[in-house]
Amino acid sequence: MSTNQSIKPITTVVNERGNLEIGGCDLVKLAETYGTPLYVIDNVTLRSICREYKEAFASYRKVQMMYASKALCTLATSAIIASEGFGFDVVSAGEIYTVYKAGVDMSKVLFNGNNKSFDELALALDLDVGRISVDNFFELSLLNEIALSKNKNVDILLRITPGIECHTHEYIQTGHLDSKFGFDLTQIDDAVELIKNEYTNLKIHGLHAHIGSQIFETSIYGDEVEILVKEIARLEQKYNIKLDEINIGGGLGVKYVETDCPPEPKDIASIVIQRLNSAIEKYNIELPTVFIEPGRSIISTSGVTLYSIGSSKQVPYGTKYVAVDGGMADNARPSMYQAEYTAQIVNKPNIKDALQKVTIAGRFCESGDILIKNIELPNPEEGDILCVFNTGAYNYSMASNYNRVQKPAMVLVNNSQSDIIVNRETLEDLISHDVIPNGLS
Ligand SMILES: *Cc1c(COP(=O)(O)O)cnc(C)c1O
Repeated sequence: MSTNQSIKPITTVVNERGNLEIGGCDLVKLAETYGTPLYVIDNVTLRSICREYKEAFASYRKVQMMYASKALCTLATSAIIASEGFGFDVVSAGEIYTVYKAGVDMSKVLFNGNNKSFDELALALDLDVGRISVDNFFELSLLNEIALSKNKNVDILLRITPGIECHTHEYIQTGHLDSKFGFDLTQIDDAVELIKNEYTNLKIHGLHAHIGSQIFETSIYGDEVEILVKEIARLEQKYNIKLDEINIGGGLGVKYVETDCPPEPKDIASIVIQRLNSAIEKYNIELPTVFIEPGRSIISTSGVTLYSIGSSKQVPYGTKYVAVDGGMADNARPSMYQAEYTAQIVNKPNIKDALQKVTIAGRFCESGDILIKNIELPNPEEGDILCVFNTGAYNYSMASNYNRVQKPAMVLVNNSQSDIIVNRETLEDLISHDVIPNGLS
C-alpha cells in the first residue's frame, strides 16, 4: 500500500501500554509534554512518500519533484523535503522567505500565484528564485519592469488553464476554463509575442498547469500532459523558440476516511510517462523536463492533531456533542469544504465496546465549528486525548487566531524522539503586533 492510501502515519501502532504511538512516541506522553492541541509530524511517513514519488517517476529521465509549500510551510519540514531532493512551489513572500531560511537551493524554487505583488516579485528576484510562473498579462508587464530596474533576466513559465474539469470540490478545482488562475489557451500566443518582442528581460522556458486538488482520477493527468506537449510544440514552431519544461502541478488525493480510494503516485506516474512519450513522438519535440508539484499527498498523511476532550452535551433525543480544545482555527477544512476526518481516542484506541456515536465539536464561537460528525468512539470522556488523522496538509497552513486563541505547537517525531518544530503561540505573541495610539483615552 502506498503512503497516501493510508489514513494514519505508517509508523502508527498501539504500544504495550495500550496507547497509540507514532514514530515511536506515545501520543498520551506527547500531549502531556507539549500540551494540546498539538500538531504531530512523522518523519518516516513524510520521507516515505517523497521517495515513492521519486521512484515512481524515476524511469523518465528528466524529472524534478517539487513540493507545493502552501500545504504546510515550516523551516523543519522544508529542510526535510529539500533533503529528499525536492524543489519548492511557493506562493508568497512568506513562503519564499521560509524556504530560503530553511537552506533550500533557491534555483529549485518556483514562484506561483495569480496576484503576486511588486514587493514579492522583487524579493523573488533578489533571492534568485529559479522560476516565476507568470499568471496573467498584468504580471508579465510588472515583472519585466522589476527585472529591468534590477538589470536582471528572469526565467519564467506561463501558467495556463488547460480546460480540464476534475471531480473534486468546486473551490479546489483550478484547471477548468472559467478559472481565476492562468492564461486561457487562446491568450498564450499574445503572451509569447509580448515576451519575444517587448518584455525582453523575461525568458520563457515552458508551461505550467494545475488541475485541482484531492483528485482521485488518473486519466486527467494524461489529458493534461497531452495539452501541455501539444501547446509547447505549437509555440516552438510558430515562434521559433525552445520550450523544454512542463509543470503538471499537483493534486493527488489522500485517504481521509475509509471510503476514500486515492490512486498512488505510481499510478499517476505511469499515465503521465506513457502519455508524455507518445505525445513527444506525435508532436515531434525533444524530451522536456517535467515538474510535478504535489502538496497535500506529500504532507497530509504524516500529520495528526492531538486534542483534549473537555465538555460534552447530550441534546435530548438528539446529537451527543463532545467538545475538544481546538477546532476551526487549527483545522478550517471541515467548516470550509465539508471535509471529513477519521479519529481515535489515543488512550483507548482498541476498545470496541461502549462505542457511542458522537459529534466532535470545536471550541470556537461558530455553530459550524464541527470537526467530525457522527463518529463512533469508545465512551469519550473529559481528559481523553483525541487524535485526528491526516491533518498535515492545509491545517496549520490555514490556521488563524480566531477568538484570539493561540496557534498550537508542532512536533516532529522520529525513532522514539520528539522535537518541537513550531513553538506554541503565547499570549504575548497574540498582542505583539497591537499598538495603542498615543493620547487614546
Ligand atoms: C495548490 C497547488 C499545488 C498542490 O496541490 P495539492 O492538491 O496540495 O497537491 C500544486 N501546484 C499549484 C500551482 C497549486 O496551486
